[in-house]
Amino acid sequence: MPEARNPTGRVLLRNARIYPDASGAHATALLMEGGRVRWLGQAGEALPPADEVIDAGGATVLPSFIDAHAHLWWMAMDRLVWQLSGPQAPASIPELLDALRERARGDGDWLVGHGLSEARLAERRLPTRAEIDRAVADRPVVLRRVCGHAAVANTEALRRAGYREDSPDPPGGLLEREDGVPNGIMREAAAVPLYPLLPRPAADELASALHAVARHALSLGVGTVVEAAVGFTAGFEAEWDLWCRVRDQGGFPLRMGFMFAIGATEAALRGLRPSLDPRWRAATLKCFSDGTLGSQTAALHQPYCACAQRKGLLMGSPAALRHGVSVAAAAGWQVAIHAIGDHGVDEALDALRTAAPLADGRPHRVEHLGLLSDGALDRLAATGAAVATQPSFIGRMGDGFAAALGPERAQRLYPARSLVERGVRLVGSSDAPAGDFSPFASMADARERRTPSGAVLGARERLDAAEALRSHTENAARAMGLWDRIGHLNVGADADLILVDTDPFQAEAAAVRRTRVLRHVLGGRTVWTA
Ligand SMILES: [Zn+2]
Ligand SMILES: [Zn+2]
Repeated sequence: MPEARNPTGRVLLRNARIYPDASGAHATALLMEGGRVRWLGQAGEALPPADEVIDAGGATVLPSFIDAHAHLWWMAMDRLVWQLSGPQAPASIPELLDALRERARGDGDWLVGHGLSEARLAERRLPTRAEIDRAVADRPVVLRRVCGHAAVANTEALRRAGYREDSPDPPGGLLEREDGVPNGIMREAAAVPLYPLLPRPAADELASALHAVARHALSLGVGTVVEAAVGFTAGFEAEWDLWCRVRDQGGFPLRMGFMFAIGATEAALRGLRPSLDPRWRAATLKCFSDGTLGSQTAALHQPYCACAQRKGLLMGSPAALRHGVSVAAAAGWQVAIHAIGDHGVDEALDALRTAAPLADGRPHRVEHLGLLSDGALDRLAATGAAVATQPSFIGRMGDGFAAALGPERAQRLYPARSLVERGVRLVGSSDAPAGDFSPFASMADARERRTPSGAVLGARERLDAAEALRSHTENAARAMGLWDRIGHLNVGADADLILVDTDPFQAEAAAVRRTRVLRHVLGGRTVWTA
C-alpha cells in the first residue's frame, strides 16, 4: 500500500486557491513529487515542469482532513445490522415492536438493532424489557442506543447475559429499575456482558464494510482517521484482528491511527507496544472516566435536571483511573481519557497529572470534555493535554443536552474558544456515527453552535473560520504526532489534499456546511473524485 501511494512523477496543481495551513495565506499552484509537496507558487510565478498537470478550475485546495476521533468499526457494523436511525426506522414504540415481531418471523437467534434513540421515538423514551417481551419473548433481543453507551434488552437476552431480577449494578454500570426490578435498560458497563454474545458478521463482510466506510470518508474530505476505541464495539480481539487483516490485505485508502480500549497491563500481556508507524499508528490507550450526556451517565457535580438523584457515573474509582493512566504513560503510550461531565473531567485531570510526558512530544488527550468546573481550565492547561471536541454534538443533540443540564450549564457546554484562548490545543473530531462525519458540518457547527431548534449554546465559545480549520487539521495532526507529515501543505508535507467548491475563509458557516469535495489526493495520488 505505501509503495502504490508514492508515485515519483511530478504532478502540478494549478489555477487553484491553495490554503497550505490555517493561517489564511494562500498560493495558486502546488507541485507534488514522491508523494510530498515540493513547491508552492503564487500567481505570476513561472510554473515548474511536470509530468502531469491538474487544472483546478479555480477550486479551493485544503489539507486533507484528519478525524481525530471516530468509530469506523461501529459505522461498518451499522451497515450490516438492523438500523433504528434511518428514514425508514420506526417512529414510535408500537412501530418498533411491530418491526420486531416481523423480524422474529425470520431465522436465527439474536435480534440486534443499532441506532436506537429516544429522540426519534414519539414517546421520547426508550422501550422497556416488558414491552419488548410482549413482542418477542422466545428469542433474545438487544437494541443498542445510538451513542453505544446504553442498550435495551428483553428478558431472554438478560437471562443469557447472566442477569437475574435481583442482580446488583455492576461497577461502572447501571441497570435501570422499575419497582426495584431491572426494566431492561442497561447503561455503560451494565450492557457490556451482552456484546460478546451477539452474532458477528463474517470477517470478509466486515472488511468490505470498512472499505465502504473509508470511501465515504474520502468523499467527505477525510483522509486520516483515528479509530477511537478498538474493542469498544465487539471486544478487543475481534476488532483488532479484523483491522490487522484489513492492513495485511492492502488497499485500505485511509491513513489510520488507533486508540486501544484496553489497559496497559492487558496491552503488555497481548505483546502490544506503541507503534509509531505514520500510516498505521497504534500508540494510544483509551480509558473512560465517566459516561455520556445522552444516556445521562456523564458524571456531574450537581444533578441532572430531570432527576435530583442522578449525577451520572464514574466508570471506576478515581484511584484506579490514576493508576491506569500513570502505568500506561510510563510504558510510552499516549493516554486518551473519555471525560464529559464536570466531575468526570476533574477526575481525568487529576489522573493526567500522574502521566509522564511522552518522549516524542505528543500530548496526552482528553476526549469530549463537556463541562469544566471552577478552576478546571487552569488545571487542564497545566497538564498540556490536547482536547478532542465534537462540535457537531451541539448541532445534532444540543437541545437534549440543554434540557438535561439546564440553561446555565448548557451555555458552558463543550467549551471551545476559551480553551483556544487559554493555549489548550483544541482538536476537532466527529465521534461518528454519534456525531456528523463531515468535517465541513463540524467546522460549521464550531462556528455556529446552533442546536436543531435554532438556539445558540454558548455564543462566546464560537470559533472563527481559521480556528475551526486549524482544529480539524493542524491540531489533529499534532495530537497524532504527525505534524511533520500531515495537517498542512507546506513544502515537505505529504501531498494529502482536497479540492472543494467553497472557500471556508470567505464563506458563511451555512455555506461551509454544504461544501462539496471535488477531488481527494493522498500521497500525491488521486484516490477519489466527485
Ligand atoms: Zn467517548
Ligand atoms: Zn467516541
